[in-house]
Amino acid sequence: AFISLPQMIALHARHKGSKPALIQEKQILDYKELDQRMDQVAATLQQAGLQPGDSIAICALNSINYATLFLGALRAGIAVAPLAPSSTPASLLGMLRDSAARLLFVDQSVKPSIEQIADQLQCPLVALDDHAAPGFSNWLGDTPLQPVEIDPQWVFNIIYSSGTTGEPKGIVQSHAMRWSHIQRSVQFGYDEDSTTLISTPLYSNTTLVSFLPTLALGGTVVLMAKFDATRYLQLAAQHRATHTMLVPVQYQRIMDREDFANFDLGNFRVKFCTSAPFHAALKADILARWPGGLVEFYGMTEGGGSCMLAAHLFPNKLHTVGKPLEGHDMRVIDEDGQELPHGEIGEVVGHSPAMMTGYLNKPEKTAEAEWFDAEGKRFIRTGDVGRFDDEGFLTLMDRRKDMIISGGFNIYPSDLEAELRQHPALEDVTVIGVRSRSWGETPVAYAVLRAGSSESTESILSWFNQRVGKTQRLARLLFTDELPRSAIGKVLKRELRDAFQAEHG
Ligand code: ATP
Ligand code: MG
Repeated sequence: AFISLPQMIALHARHKGSKPALIQEKQILDYKELDQRMDQVAATLQQAGLQPGDSIAICALNSINYATLFLGALRAGIAVAPLAPSSTPASLLGMLRDSAARLLFVDQSVKPSIEQIADQLQCPLVALDDHAAPGFSNWLGDTPLQPVEIDPQWVFNIIYSSGTTGEPKGIVQSHAMRWSHIQRSVQFGYDEDSTTLISTPLYSNTTLVSFLPTLALGGTVVLMAKFDATRYLQLAAQHRATHTMLVPVQYQRIMDREDFANFDLGNFRVKFCTSAPFHAALKADILARWPGGLVEFYGMTEGGGSCMLAAHLFPNKLHTVGKPLEGHDMRVIDEDGQELPHGEIGEVVGHSPAMMTGYLNKPEKTAEAEWFDAEGKRFIRTGDVGRFDDEGFLTLMDRRKDMIISGGFNIYPSDLEAELRQHPALEDVTVIGVRSRSWGETPVAYAVLRAGSSESTESILSWFNQRVGKTQRLARLLFTDELPRSAIGKVLKRELRDAFQAEHG
């Protein structure tokens, strides 16, 4: 039978109300308090005239108020559209219209962008951190809640895709979909004794897949407003964290710390990683120095099939993203949409029990994302290029949009990046394709030099170009202080391509 997440929280409140549910710095909310505040949020939204089927938007950094508002809205059957604070004002406006949000909750961090669109906003604002009027604490009323029975098909949240390759697309996830994620999570050892340290933003599916199961099973969530490697390690040791979700660049920052070994991380059961390429050498380093299991997920917000690699169990498969989850069917197709035999390289498509029905208000984008097999089974195109090995493990190359076609040859930036990463003077690298008169496209690298290194671009370029085949040679290598990354750590190649084109033509 189906139990909604707000009901599960009510059960924990009844049976062990004094157990901490949410912790952030000095603030602690136990299950009883969380449950009461969720009632208050739900009742206030009802009082404001919102009904099941309506939605609210939240654009703020992680906070206890954020979490409480999200969960309280769900209790009233109201969907949540969590929006990235780093979005441009135009994109925020687009997402607000698209999600038809009836109220927008913001914090101080987004004040500058909100000011730019203030006169175009079609819904009232509430300041989640009370930095302006009306503030959340005044907004909350004290009318009693009209109980709502949640239908599993109702919308839980509308998540916007990361916008890595274009405009963000709204993806609707139902209570039933979330329920299936939560059920799946039991295998990872989430229980009432688990403590999950969350430092990724609550607007991302990456975060929600570990945040929600922790609360559903009566554990404790320790929230960070923003990631910081030192603070992360201090909190993990202090709260004896058992679970966490980090993106690859965060793992890198943590493992790079010289004082890593000074922190007691002995309580970790499982650490998760998803959302961007996670290099084998980094996985190996974590396995060697950080206690507990390491599980990588590969998937997309659209839910079109996911792979999982339990890295601690398959040390010889660290270059892969693992195998499709139970009940997930993943295949590989060519440019013309023809299914390829096992072992060939092509675009990965996936079918899962938790697939989106479609993008919100974008039927043409939905149609582009769908693929049907000969029997008419529906799959979602991932836009990622990869290949399955004999044992069914998937190796990912690149996003299709990032592949470089130079003089008729396919060049995989990931191959070039792996090679470049071998250079001892380089800390971070990425390869993009730029327009070329003679080749159509040609590869260009952006690299971050290690502190203290005096290596020149010419010397690295000639080192590199001697190591690779003729077609893979880099046309240029440019140094930069930092690669542009989204808030959840994805390299924004689109931005680099635009910047290169603007500067170098
Ligand atoms: P948009 O669709 O708006 O361009 P996005 O694809 O980055 O943005 P998400 O749904 O957040 O939005 O991310 C899914 C993508 O992230 C995958 O298609 C894949 O490219 C990448 N990804 C996810 N997990 C992994 C992983 N373990 N290894 C490598 N890449 C990953
Ligand atoms: Mg995508």
